[in-house]
Amino acid sequence: AAKHDGRGGVARFEASMAASVDAHLRVHERLQHALRHGGLQLHYQPQFDWDAERVTTVEALLRWSDPVLGAVSPQRCIEVAEATGLIVSLGDWVLEQACRQARQWRDQGAAVRVAVNLSPQQFRLPDLPQRIVAMMQRHGLPGEALELEITESHAMADPQRACVALRQLMEHGIELALDDFGTGHSSLAQLKRLPLHRLKIDREFVRGIPHDGVDAALVRGVARLARLLRLQTVAEGVETATQAWHVRRHGVDAIQGWVLDRAQPAHEVARWFGPQGAARALARLRDAAPA
Ligand code: C2E
Ligand code: MG
Ligand code: MG
Ligand code: MG
Repeated sequence: AAKHDGRGGVARFEASMAASVDAHLRVHERLQHALRHGGLQLHYQPQFDWDAERVTTVEALLRWSDPVLGAVSPQRCIEVAEATGLIVSLGDWVLEQACRQARQWRDQGAAVRVAVNLSPQQFRLPDLPQRIVAMMQRHGLPGEALELEITESHAMADPQRACVALRQLMEHGIELALDDFGTGHSSLAQLKRLPLHRLKIDREFVRGIPHDGVDAALVRGVARLARLLRLQTVAEGVETATQAWHVRRHGVDAIQGWVLDRAQPAHEVARWFGPQGAARALARLRDAAPA
């Protein structure tokens, strides 16, 4: 088709390439500025564990609103940071911030774990486990204070390497989750070898619950499989109390999603901690409890 466009098509293509390179550079420049001078934030989304009957974990999610560019999605930030090498400093900033917050919550008596997403390139850094362990020691944090999430698709891109890095992290007591599970392609042989604590079932399969029988069967299947592999499960993107109870019935151990809360600044997510927070979460979920 490009041939029929003739020169005009090529020019249009070049112009749009140039525009996208330009946009990339602008985001890169502003991101670098934000890393140096502030502007990035972590918000935290609670995860409710059915057996513990409380919020045991909060996931740190990157938020960035730039004075020039406006709000930039975390996917876009990560994409640009990965392409331009900023990912090392951005990744360190996120980990450092999460550790500092975990320390503060612990000092306030909240036994909550902070989950941090790792980007593919960040996960590939050969010294990542040592860096994370050193950071945690600096903040006086036990391994269990931190959970790391890597997506299924990038763990499976190089399962052997993933295995080595995850094992090192696990030896230090750090919790490990496979994110967006069901959207990548794990072979069971690889899955059973990966050192992990939990699978996060992608929102894709939660969305259709309770009406979609296929989604229900898939969630139940993953929960069973996880149990066989001695892994816990978390359902992502649970938006209603009805969905929460259904995934529980399907054998899922924990839920995360708007039914409880969106990702919030640290001081706001603290309302889900402690006995009062647990009572609040249960009250929220009880609305749709089966009779
Ligand atoms: P993720 O790790 O799978 O995070 C879950 C995403 O689902 C978040 O989007 C969250 O805000 C959204 N979400 C949570 N509950 C619900 C719900 O009930 N309904 C719906 N529709 N959405 C819900 P967010 O914050 O835009 O982040 C998107 C992705 O960006 C994350 O997906 C993660 O892959 C990546 N990301 C975010 N922060 C970081 C970070 O600090 N480092 C890295 N490497 N990646 C990050
Ligand atoms: Mg995640
Ligand atoms: Mg996820
Ligand atoms: Mg997801």
